[in-house]
Amino acid sequence: MESDSHPEDSTALLAAAFGASPIPAAIVDGQDRIVHANEAFARRQDHTDPAELVGSALPDLHSRSSRIPLGVGLGAYTLISLDPAEATAGGPSARYTGLVSREVLLGEVAQAIASGRRNALLVLHVDRFSIIVDTLGPAEGDRLLETLLARVALATRADDVVCRLGGDEVAVLLRHPTTAEDPGATARWIVRLAGEPVELDGRSVVTSLSVGVALAAPGATVESLLRQADAALSEAKRHGRNRAVVFDPALRAVLEERSRLEYELRVALSSGRLELYFQPEVDMVTGAVLGVEALARWPHPSRGLLAAGAFVELAEQTGLVDELGRWVLDEAVSTLAGWRDLHPELVMRVNVSAMQLARPELVGDVGAILDSAAVPPHQVCLEITETAIMTDIGRSMDVLAELHRLGVRLAIDDFGTGFSSLAHLKRFPVQLLKIDRTFVDDLGDAEGRAIVASVLGLASSLGLAVIAEGVETDEQRRALVELGCTRAQGHLFSEAMDQDSCRRWLATRR
Ligand code: C2E
Ligand code: CA
Ligand code: CA
Repeated sequence: MESDSHPEDSTALLAAAFGASPIPAAIVDGQDRIVHANEAFARRQDHTDPAELVGSALPDLHSRSSRIPLGVGLGAYTLISLDPAEATAGGPSARYTGLVSREVLLGEVAQAIASGRRNALLVLHVDRFSIIVDTLGPAEGDRLLETLLARVALATRADDVVCRLGGDEVAVLLRHPTTAEDPGATARWIVRLAGEPVELDGRSVVTSLSVGVALAAPGATVESLLRQADAALSEAKRHGRNRAVVFDPALRAVLEERSRLEYELRVALSSGRLELYFQPEVDMVTGAVLGVEALARWPHPSRGLLAAGAFVELAEQTGLVDELGRWVLDEAVSTLAGWRDLHPELVMRVNVSAMQLARPELVGDVGAILDSAAVPPHQVCLEITETAIMTDIGRSMDVLAELHRLGVRLAIDDFGTGFSSLAHLKRFPVQLLKIDRTFVDDLGDAEGRAIVASVLGLASSLGLAVIAEGVETDEQRRALVELGCTRAQGHLFSEAMDQDSCRRWLATRR
């Protein structure tokens, strides 16, 4: 469905789009001198010919403007885009001065479908918008949305229709694109424009958009088009956001399957049918058991026992992860309390997802659960992935600091797979790194060993303990011990076990 012709590949097409855009825009160099301006911009400066502005200094703009750096490869050039709401009245830009209401959009979509011509509906979602609003406040959230809408306008035509559906959702009707215009490519272009930094409240904020695209086919209705665009949007988010997906019929089966699984997961959670399994962590030199990691399992009626990898992501996407997370914490902590007779110093490790970390209630929940089970906080360690922390670094720091004050231990999970900078690592109140299984897999060659050695060196200079994950063979065990890493978990020692089996396993290790 995606064609190779992409507007960004065509300089002439881009120049024409820039020139014809109803959004007043200019490109300036590193000294804020105008290199290109479009007609809308020239009109705002009371010029008729944009060429007259080339070489002049960017005027003092009394309107709200966005500065969009054009990227590393393009040097110091910046796109200046003026608030279309303040553009001179009339002209093609009138359409953007007010976004249309949902009713108007639906009417326009119905009309467009009735015309029998090519049409496409785009549904856009600002990724992690709620986190931005929580961090910077609703006014800055609105400013961000306005900037993104101005960028959407740059990629669309004057007779396309733009509608803000809800807080962070926007719909765009691409009306009658020609056969040379590929709505998927337009959507990707919007995603790309949206990914450039936005100046907000004195800081540079980077966001992204996920976009679902539905193409009107014969027999389409407003509802079917909206549903398909939504489905494509979910698919875009599921593939990691910051992308556009065009609906195609094969998606329908996938979506039905997912919504069935979601329903079943909801039922399983609310009727207490999930289970916690536990995987021991051992000292490879002494054989001592130091802790266990709680891992969620779902005994599914027809699919068998599902490991966390098969449903945690679904829980995150459907908002079920809050409930799942609370249940896991509660169950893990009360299990630990029940094992006190066997192993009074055992540490319980619990995985915490990015979405849990973004909830202000997390700290209170953890405190309450520890209190009610009378478990000392230092015997609970929360495992958080680098990516989860980096999603919103400022806020994560606050939550981590509060958890640290509470006395629970904190670990960075899957260390090495994310992109946390060393500078950040130093500031996190974490005590432990878990080296991802992929690095343990690579211990067979010198390069792999060098990587693990450097992680160990880094950890020791920061005073952090290290656990190696996924140790499966004796060679891996030996290599790790040689490098100075003594703590590990993995199938070589034990797979994850249900509560009773783990209790028996611990009893044999006393
Ligand atoms: P993780 O935290 O990295 O967990 C380790 C995963 O590796 C587990 O898979 C575990 O069963 C598996 N594993 C352990 N040792 C070995 C080994 O030697 N070889 C191999 N091949 N695999 C091994 P699982 O249970 O499917 O969990 C997958 C991920 O799902 C976890 O990765 C964790 O990020 C997440 N997860 C698990 N339980 C929970 C939970 O209760 N809450 C949240 N938010 N996430 C969870
Ligand atoms: Ca983990
Ligand atoms: Ca891990």
